[in-house]
Amino acid sequence: MTTTARRGTRIAHLGVAVRAIPDVLPFYRDVLGLSTVPLDDADGARIAGLAAGDSLVELLEPAVAYSPIAKFIDRKGPGIHHICFNVDDLDATLAKAKAAGVVLIDDVPRVGAEGKRIAFLHPKSTGGVLIELSEY
Ligand code: ZN
Repeated sequence: MTTTARRGTRIAHLGVAVRAIPDVLPFYRDVLGLSTVPLDDADGARIAGLAAGDSLVELLEPAVAYSPIAKFIDRKGPGIHHICFNVDDLDATLAKAKAAGVVLIDDVPRVGAEGKRIAFLHPKSTGGVLIELSEY
């Protein structure tokens, strides 16, 4: 039993692969009116965060060649790269995914951009969308 209140699964952020943040940021910031949130680089990507209610839009720009984002853009072009869900219990959710036959990219959680434990699920098990799971 945990004493932590259960908050339920919800969207933490959408990762959008872009070739260049300065080309795309004005749309989200100035047209949609989302405020910018400073985020550290991660996984070979520069990241611009934009707050949309309780969720974020993360613009992911390749910082180095052969990074996951660079490879994604080479293969598919810019667009939605992944959806990140906050879950109450990351370990339990990963175990449930594994038991359901979901292909895991991370068998065990690792520390992500915001210092939280995260794990990725393979798109071939999730309707074609790369899914990131994150702790609150
Ligand atoms: Zn993410």
